[in-house]
Amino acid sequence: MKTLFVKTYGCQMNVYDSARIADLLKPLGYAAAESPEEADMVVLNTCHIREKAAEKVYSELGRLRRAKEKRAELGRPLLIAVAGCVAQAEGEEIIRRQNAVDIVVGPQALHRIPEMVAKVERREGRALETDFAPEEKFDSLASAGADGPTAFLTVQEGCDKFCTFCVVPYTRGAEYSRPVAQIEAEARQLANAGVREITLLGQNVNAYCGRGPNGDAWSLARLLHRLAEIDGLDRLRYITSHPRDMGEDLIDAHRDLHKLMPYLHLPVQSGSDALLAAMNRRHTRDDYLRLVERIRAARKDIALSSDFIVGFPSETDSDFERTMALVREVGYAQAFSFKFSPRPGTPASGAGKQIPEKVKSERLLALQALLTTQQNAFAKSCENATMPVLFEKPGRKAGQAVGRSPYLQPVHVNDAEHLIGGIADVRIEHALPNSLRGSLADAPVLQRAAAR
Ligand code: SAM
Ligand code: SF4
Repeated sequence: MKTLFVKTYGCQMNVYDSARIADLLKPLGYAAAESPEEADMVVLNTCHIREKAAEKVYSELGRLRRAKEKRAELGRPLLIAVAGCVAQAEGEEIIRRQNAVDIVVGPQALHRIPEMVAKVERREGRALETDFAPEEKFDSLASAGADGPTAFLTVQEGCDKFCTFCVVPYTRGAEYSRPVAQIEAEARQLANAGVREITLLGQNVNAYCGRGPNGDAWSLARLLHRLAEIDGLDRLRYITSHPRDMGEDLIDAHRDLHKLMPYLHLPVQSGSDALLAAMNRRHTRDDYLRLVERIRAARKDIALSSDFIVGFPSETDSDFERTMALVREVGYAQAFSFKFSPRPGTPASGAGKQIPEKVKSERLLALQALLTTQQNAFAKSCENATMPVLFEKPGRKAGQAVGRSPYLQPVHVNDAEHLIGGIADVRIEHALPNSLRGSLADAPVLQRAAAR
């Protein structure tokens, strides 16, 4: 028996792809290794979204090269593969920079990994595949296996938006939506295996436009309605959404589908119209604020989350202040914020005035302080509410279980280990910095008060 370790960088789509890589290599005799040190094959499933992520991959490859040399002395080969968006963007450059690498495989070609491994094992040289063939990829992947009560399911890949800062349209290719029947079959299989919550994934998931059973195009809202009919599946989520693709039917689904959880990641990136235009986001600050109003009118307790970029080229103090003001106006339950990182080949990497590192850091600190205050206030607003929690795993203390609230917060509950895999009502007693603590409730579930 050979062993495999897949190290995942970046987004949930990579987490999903990593699980598929492990499934694809099982028939070749690869079982999961606990650590890279024990493995006969290591796959780095990479992310190219920010510079540091790619640099981390190269330093990890340096470590793996030394491990490979040591193992060779003992007559035990180590196969090294680089998958994901760095593989797609850098291609042969990876082998040029680190010749210990055996396989380079882009995200749309990962279904070809078994034949690539076989080629390397036959000592026929290195293997490199960076074609875009999403249809072929999903047709040849095994359905996602269940590993606990929650699962990800990729429904859409790629992006046609071309935000000026982003590499995704270059590394993941054009938008592609999987057919409804394929997604439904995978969701049913997951539900039969005990999965209670599915998060639909896509770089631009709400641009989903898949072929329905009669050949017509289905929106994400229609897909959610269909999946909500599956018995045993109690919770649905989706990520990541673009404000431009938030259609009326999707907003209505937040009102009508009780299985659709009241949490929405809706990245805005900036609160300045000048920057939104320079980023090619195709909406204004006002469009976004009006959209938030419509979503909150449909589902008053919805928790919102966002991504922000600070220090985009030419960002002035007043542009940044517009972002801070937007954050104060919306009130987020959760958020991710990044310093602008120029990505080679993207329009923003050479455009406008690049912002000094020190200014980027100061702005990021100020934004994160505000977002943390809002996150804490949101958590505090959950105290004394009773809400359904899906228990996922044991906690650190004996008998304790950790689950997720409808708003995606981790919730720790004592004497609840027997409930893992199920949903139970929990009375929230304390809001901690990154999680909630509560106890099992007998009382009926009360809605958390609307955030604003
Ligand atoms: N499709 C999503 C959207 O339109 O908002 C975002 C997907 S992207 C993989 C995740 C986040 O990474 C973006 O929302 C953005 O905040 C951040 N990001 C992307 N490129 C970046 C860059 N060059 N520098 C800094 N942050 C970046
Ligand atoms: Fe990147 Fe999202 Fe813009 Fe597409 S919509 S280019 S994935 S940031």
